[in-house]
Amino acid sequence: MKKTDKQQAAGDQCAKCGACTAVCPVYQVTGRESLTARGRLHLLSRLTNPASAVFGKIVSACLLCGSCLDACPRKIDTLSPLISAREQLPLSARHQFLEKLVARKTLTSPRLLAGLAALRQKLLHYLPETSGLWLKLALLPEDFSPEDTQPLLPAVQQNGVQPAVSYFSGCLARYLSPDISAATDFLSRRVTGSPLLIPGEQACCGLASFAAGSRKEAQDLARKNIAAFAGNALPILTSCASCYSHLRSYPVLLADDPHWRGQAEDFSARVREFSRFFLEAGLAPPVGPETGEPADTAGIFYHDPCHLRFGPEKIIDQPRRLLKNITGSPPLELAGGPHCCGQGGLFHIAHPHLSQQILAGPLAQFLELSASHVVTTCSGCLLQWQQGLGQAGLPDRACHLAVLLARIIRQKGG
Ligand code: SF4
Ligand code: SF4
Repeated sequence: MKKTDKQQAAGDQCAKCGACTAVCPVYQVTGRESLTARGRLHLLSRLTNPASAVFGKIVSACLLCGSCLDACPRKIDTLSPLISAREQLPLSARHQFLEKLVARKTLTSPRLLAGLAALRQKLLHYLPETSGLWLKLALLPEDFSPEDTQPLLPAVQQNGVQPAVSYFSGCLARYLSPDISAATDFLSRRVTGSPLLIPGEQACCGLASFAAGSRKEAQDLARKNIAAFAGNALPILTSCASCYSHLRSYPVLLADDPHWRGQAEDFSARVREFSRFFLEAGLAPPVGPETGEPADTAGIFYHDPCHLRFGPEKIIDQPRRLLKNITGSPPLELAGGPHCCGQGGLFHIAHPHLSQQILAGPLAQFLELSASHVVTTCSGCLLQWQQGLGQAGLPDRACHLAVLLARIIRQKGG
């Protein structure tokens, strides 16, 4: 495999101090140095032979959580060399990605999603229960139909009121959990007085393609989304933390494209993160006696998506303050503090066993809290918690923050 300048530079810069190793969720459950940022940088800066299947596993077994990036005292870009390595891997070394590719194509294509839904029962019968693809298929509603993939009607057609905010739903809220889109629209109406504008041409954000090493596909999806939201200067709200992180990175993704670079910067500047948007907008419950069944807010645990916790803006405090404003109490915290859930985009499909091992720690701590719910704003984290709590016999204990806030406000008479 040909080394890139970035891979060589990152390897040369590394002081081998191990600060990244100590915080790596994969290392914490495997103890394998080759699966840490330090180990990978070493391998990537010295490997000269074509990538082997073993090396394919080494570069695929990373959550891209950013924890190492955050911990590195030299501020080495530990992730770009890894993404480059994934782009360079020959197909023969990508067997770990095959399921991943199937799932990614499926989630980005309504036609394939519908076709897969028709085969759902047969596939579920043959796939082992530990397969990450099984987990994804099992989430499809039994009566799934292509009509389910149609976006909500643009709000301006619903009641004639001009929208103040546009909405990037992300694949989960669009295809599998439209209750997230509906709840976000409800909350947005409370703070802006108008419904969300939802461009029907929007596509997958492209994070899965990017993480799997398909840069060109990720760039094509980015261009499609930029075009879908062109034509007005409205803020672009998204309810998914992973989508937020990736939408904000479009200027870097399209940095070498002179035609799209400027548009990518304009687009990125309009993107708004869910918790910060509603906190700054002053979202509050109605004042007065509750009109419905009292909301169960005895203890809410907020799970930090890694993309927000380790991202450049460190969006950690805002969701907690928002929850306190609505419920009256600060959210509960795990005894060991915030922890990655092990989902890692499509990491849980390529490495389902590792993914479950990483979830086991925070899941056990959550169960000790006696919390009523875990909430988060990342689609991947939400699926991971729903699957883990389902296996623990506690379905319906994980929901999107938007859904919980909308429920509480409605129960308070909003
Ligand atoms: S991004 Fe996360 S999983 Fe990957 S090496 Fe860094 S700390 Fe480990
Ligand atoms: S924290 Fe940074 S310098 Fe230290 S071993 Fe990891 S990548 Fe190298």
